[in-house]
Amino acid sequence: MKPKIWLSSPHMSGEEQTYIKEAFETNWVAPLGPNVSGFESDLQHYLKQNKYVAALASGTSALHLSLILLGVTSGDEVICQSKTFSATANPIVYQGATPVFVDSEEDTWNMCPVQLEMALQDRLAKGKSVKAIIPVHLYGMPYKADEIHSIAKKYHIPVVEDSAESLGSHYKGQNCGTFGDYAILSFNGNKIITTSGGGAIVTNTESEKQKAVFLATQARDSAPHYQHSQIGYNYRMSNIVAGIGRGQMTILDSHVAKRRANHDQYKIGLQHIDNIAFLDEPKDHFSNRWLTTILVDSKETREGLRLALEAENIESRPLWKPMHQQPIFRKSPHYLNGVSDDLFDRGLCLPSGSNLTNKQLDRVISAINMYFAVC
Ligand SMILES: *Cc1c(COP(=O)(O)O)cnc(C)c1O
Repeated sequence: MKPKIWLSSPHMSGEEQTYIKEAFETNWVAPLGPNVSGFESDLQHYLKQNKYVAALASGTSALHLSLILLGVTSGDEVICQSKTFSATANPIVYQGATPVFVDSEEDTWNMCPVQLEMALQDRLAKGKSVKAIIPVHLYGMPYKADEIHSIAKKYHIPVVEDSAESLGSHYKGQNCGTFGDYAILSFNGNKIITTSGGGAIVTNTESEKQKAVFLATQARDSAPHYQHSQIGYNYRMSNIVAGIGRGQMTILDSHVAKRRANHDQYKIGLQHIDNIAFLDEPKDHFSNRWLTTILVDSKETREGLRLALEAENIESRPLWKPMHQQPIFRKSPHYLNGVSDDLFDRGLCLPSGSNLTNKQLDRVISAINMYFAVC
């Protein structure tokens, strides 16, 4: 069996252990400490736009806290991009609210502005309380930020920007993770940088950040004893984990460059196959190319290709199954135009890690060429 090629595996810089060692030596082995504040300040510096960042246990916990801070509660509705990973939608349900799924457009595969406005008008006409909108920059491709945010503004509904897959991407020169009323980042094992597991919430004000940290550390009132007047959570990032994050920040830009180079290499290596289409960057959109994705002519071809790669010990994955198709969300309201269903049928994510060698990329490209040569 040839050695495994993964879809997106962790890629360390070598600096991580310096920060972790320092945490041990100074005994900051806790969900606070100099690595946590150092990592937050690195992220703030990177994102710009005078944002505040609180490091948390996961991207999912950051989404959950964003919804809590926006007052989303039982009986409310939250509009969510259907084409996403389930972690975008789950926290809506944690709050007892109902997710309303909106389909994608073809230029970025993200939330369709036309469908969004239709959905909003319909929910509001039905007397529903829509408390937030969650668009996603999927696979690192920025969503149509001007359109989405101007609709949100028109209806006075806050946006939680799911930037879990798009650290290092930008739109009109502004970094993804800085567009929303709140934004979230993820540092899970497969993301563009990883802390093994972790996430962050990005806020516009220091006081919003402090509220997020308060809720993330069990909502302890200031008193010598443990006192609570609100329900709290254990969502803070540990100082050890944040040390990994500080090390990873030193190579973020080079990881983006490498993932973009992977995408270009696939494009060149597969350009003569008529059956393969890539997602190009629309004007003003800069993608970190977290994952390189392709579209083929049919579900059968996509599955055939996936299995052919698997036989070569190469991991690939169908594009994310839209939430409106998930058994758990079948009863949720949805506004569809067929785009995300079609992408799920015909799309495949290719190995895209920043640690892939040329030899590994060539192996994937040859395996794909071979599949289309015989079929
Ligand atoms: C990974 C991911 C999340 C969740 O982040 P975790 O850190 O794994 O909790 C949320 N949304 C999207 C789009 C993701 O890819």
